[in-house]
Amino acid sequence: MSTKNQFLLIVTLMLAALATATIVNVGLNFREFAINAAVDKAKLTANIVKDGLTSHMVNGIMDKRKYFLDTITQNNEVKKLWIARGENVIDQYGKGFSYENARDEMDREVLASGQMIKTITESPGTVNLRITIPYKADSTAKVSCLECHSVNDGAILGAVSMEFDINNVRNASTLTILKIFGINVLFIFIALFVLNHYIKPYMELFANLREGIKKAHSGDFSHRFDTRVSGEGKEVADQINTLFHKMQETFGEIKHSLATFVTRSNIGCSDPLFEAKIIIKELADIYKFKKTIELDDTKTLVYQRIITVLQTKFDIHNFSFFEIDRINKTRDAIYISHKSFCDANVDKNVDLCRAYRTDTDIISTDFPNLCSSCHHNQDEYVCIPFDINDEVSLTLNIVVENITQFDQVNMSITSIKNYIEAAKPVIESRILTDRLRETTLRDGMTGLYNRRFLEQFIDKLAKQALRDETHYSVLMLDIDYFKMVNDTYGHDVGDIVIRALSEVIKKSVRDADLAIRYGGEEFVVLLHNSTREGSIAVAQKIHDEFNKIKFDLNGESLQKTISIGISQFPSDANSIWKAIKFADTALYYAKEHGRNQVIEFEAEMFDGEGDNF
Ligand code: GH3
Ligand code: MG
Ligand code: MG
Repeated sequence: MSTKNQFLLIVTLMLAALATATIVNVGLNFREFAINAAVDKAKLTANIVKDGLTSHMVNGIMDKRKYFLDTITQNNEVKKLWIARGENVIDQYGKGFSYENARDEMDREVLASGQMIKTITESPGTVNLRITIPYKADSTAKVSCLECHSVNDGAILGAVSMEFDINNVRNASTLTILKIFGINVLFIFIALFVLNHYIKPYMELFANLREGIKKAHSGDFSHRFDTRVSGEGKEVADQINTLFHKMQETFGEIKHSLATFVTRSNIGCSDPLFEAKIIIKELADIYKFKKTIELDDTKTLVYQRIITVLQTKFDIHNFSFFEIDRINKTRDAIYISHKSFCDANVDKNVDLCRAYRTDTDIISTDFPNLCSSCHHNQDEYVCIPFDINDEVSLTLNIVVENITQFDQVNMSITSIKNYIEAAKPVIESRILTDRLRETTLRDGMTGLYNRRFLEQFIDKLAKQALRDETHYSVLMLDIDYFKMVNDTYGHDVGDIVIRALSEVIKKSVRDADLAIRYGGEEFVVLLHNSTREGSIAVAQKIHDEFNKIKFDLNGESLQKTISIGISQFPSDANSIWKAIKFADTALYYAKEHGRNQVIEFEAEMFDGEGDNF
């Protein structure tokens, strides 16, 4: 039930209770009054009867008393009237007429007690008042009763009984009650009408307020409160309107400002307050993320942070993350959680990746078999491309196993992009740094690593080798009588010979091996996990391939030889630097013993000089 109806019902009940109380009170009083009036009339009539009978007695016309009594009963209100002789009168004058005897128990009781008795009997059509009044001897009256009656003063001489019809009184009372009832009903209706008229605008304002506040709960402050109420009610409505207007403007501005920091389209909520809270939280998280990656000094570490964010913040665990070389159209896996679901050819031709080629998010539910390079038929997937610069792009391929996970990932796409967007300048900067470092660690003439590289990475390499129980064979190479080339043919020819040797080395080693230009025409090669025999074979191959080269110098042919020293880490030496030293010792031995040969290090070759590793 509405508040208004409840209020009106309460008022109606209160007025009805008041009316009922009034009616009951009036009814009871009316009845009391009617009975008392009838009793008074009965007493008066009894006195008339008494005086009349006394007169009849004094005048000696007692035999005419019946006529007198009948005359009284002709009065409409006195329905019946009779007298009953008391014992004293019967004893003195006899029983009298037959109608003068006690007629019922009530007469007998009054004659015995001398007390008046009255009873009321009601039936649908009548209300009967029966009253019996004792008639006592009185010596003080004008005519003393004792003159005729031989009794004591106050003795009971008889009783006068009467019956009155007081139905008209009841009718009058009922009519009065009905009038009061009618007046009350009318009053209640008028009161309700006036009240309704007065509270209706308040109730409308109340309903309006309720609707507006409900909308405000969901972040919509566009509601305005119109009211017919004046005074305080109008003031309240105006103040709330001003408040809502301010809220609407302020939240709109906050939302607009925040949207310039991060793009959000997936909150799925129109509540600007809630949206602002989410955006601020995300901004804070992204700020922390950015501050952290800015201190990471390599691109690999930054990528690792993105992977951690995907796993911990977005709860995504089945995904692949690729770095694309846009120039060469190839890609390298940064992270693959389970197994890449892309065709292997995509790695060599990234145009096969639909997400990269179209530069749009690929959501597998959009169309059956959306990406032709995808082999993941059962699960759904989401692939997000992200360009870092003209040379590098990233792709993130997420596999989802059920619709809940799918919705979750779909909701997170914008947020994930915000993170990668925040990481973009850092990744770009780390790509440049890595490239710069690469150039400072490579020899410009041959493209091989330089000595600085060896100095920077050798300890890391050694620790990793000890941890992984891998080993290295160290080859130290030097061209025999190289000075002579410079001296005879000039430096440029010398450079050609150095470059030729570096090419032979590059062709003879694997990707996991490291080739370093150690000095002028000296090279160090670290063969990863090679056997002793294997390392000799590689050295021999380099030796033979280089020896075969015939440099054509304006018709003159030049051939050079090299000497190579070999040592094993960690079997010959417990540090890589020491192994390099031992390889150099073996090389020295080769030079000393005729050059143009491959010599393995042996402990006897080393005299301990400079053994401070
Ligand atoms: P050995 O057989 O004992 O090695 O005799 P060698 O003449 O080769 O002697 P060594 O290895 O000491 O010679 C090094 C020479 O290499 C000295 C230097 O002039 C020359 N050299 C160093 N760097 C370069 C370079 O980048 N280009 C050229 N053309 N020559 C270089
Ligand atoms: Mg040399
Ligand atoms: Mg030399």
